Amino acid sequence: FRPPLSLKSTSIFPTFICNILALNPRKQTHATLHSTAAKKQVKKQWKRNSDKSCSNCEKLENNFDDIKHTTLSERGALREAMRCLKCADAPCQKSCPTNLDIKSFITSIANKNYYGAAKMILSDNPLGLTCGMVCPTSDLCVGGCNLYATEEGPINIGGLQQFATEVFKAMNIPQIRNPSLPPLEDMPEAYHMKIALLGAGPASLSCASFLARLGYSNITIFEKQEYVGGLSLYVIPLSLPKEEILICLKISVLGLPEPNRDTIFQGLRMEQGFYTSKDFLPLVAMASKPGMCACHSPLPSIHGTVIVLGAGDTAFDCATSALRCGARHVFVVFRKGFTNIRAVPEEMELAKEEKCEFLPFLSPRKVVLRGGQIVAMEFVRTEQDSDGNWKEDEDQVVRLKADVVISAFGSILSDNKGNPY
Ligand code: SF4
Repeated sequence: FRPPLSLKSTSIFPTFICNILALNPRKQTHATLHSTAAKKQVKKQWKRNSDKSCSNCEKLENNFDDIKHTTLSERGALREAMRCLKCADAPCQKSCPTNLDIKSFITSIANKNYYGAAKMILSDNPLGLTCGMVCPTSDLCVGGCNLYATEEGPINIGGLQQFATEVFKAMNIPQIRNPSLPPLEDMPEAYHMKIALLGAGPASLSCASFLARLGYSNITIFEKQEYVGGLSLYVIPLSLPKEEILICLKISVLGLPEPNRDTIFQGLRMEQGFYTSKDFLPLVAMASKPGMCACHSPLPSIHGTVIVLGAGDTAFDCATSALRCGARHVFVVFRKGFTNIRAVPEEMELAKEEKCEFLPFLSPRKVVLRGGQIVAMEFVRTEQDSDGNWKEDEDQVVRLKADVVISAFGSILSDNKGNPY
């Protein structure tokens, strides 16, 4: 049924029906013209994504909120959980380093049993919330999901894990000793022996949790830093959940490895504008995370142009952190091409979204100083020969202005053929 085009309120078509039907699509009798200038103006009022010119972009300086886009609302989590096929072969679980029973916790979420989902996650991985936030899932569980090739894509497993554990955190359920264990005094003597764990990083905290669940009662974790959490607290530049660390500690002094330094950086100091990733990220983390006191270490003073060397996850963490510390431009420079980038795509995408520039095929040669301060860096071009070996062409020198250089080569300075990365 379609009413006539010229709708008039009659006894057959009362006014309110005419109003509703007037909204229906109908054939236009003539083109609607708007000037480009007017359209541009209107578009501004409706735009939801960020402007290309970035005139109204959110300022990143001193913004240390959670920058991982995985947080799901309840509605989003339920919709995502419903999509899961609960596969019999469960490749997601097989690709998970902690062997989480992923389809089971997703089923619990789909049934709105968030406590059950969190219990399943935390049983296998006491740091389930942290992992939900920072695991490179595209390379692990999500990379194995049977829905990978579908239009809607693989299940957002990290987001669901983060959702379930965050809901559990909000439940504020007190941690208790396993009630199925015999009373403390009836436990065999071995369960009372002193156990020392060196370093309060994720490995120690997980180990302590599992020992406590087994009934060991005398566990001490030694940490040289002021706060516990190790790598996840001092190096990952995100608002990671301290509460999760406390959960681990309720039921129950080693440092980070020395950074690699290329010989061209020998003798350079932070005051001159040179940082290694392992100097830089802990400073950022300590000064920016809620609950940690910036009085111990102010944010690194970063300004102007920053060059980050490397193409791993750490390099992209340094690049996005440098923007938050005040850098105007950040260049991520690496020796090989885009196809050789080691970082997970999410990290690289984030750096791209935040307007970091990428410069491939450049190998660092020299740091240029003026008045003791870094002012530029020289690079030589790299290329791959027909045998796949990487060569450096000393004749093609590239000079880049730089106020700060962050070396983020990590622990791998050469590939398996001995070529520098
Ligand atoms: S592979 Fe994907 S669809 Fe299958 S159970 Fe795992 S998360 Fe669900």
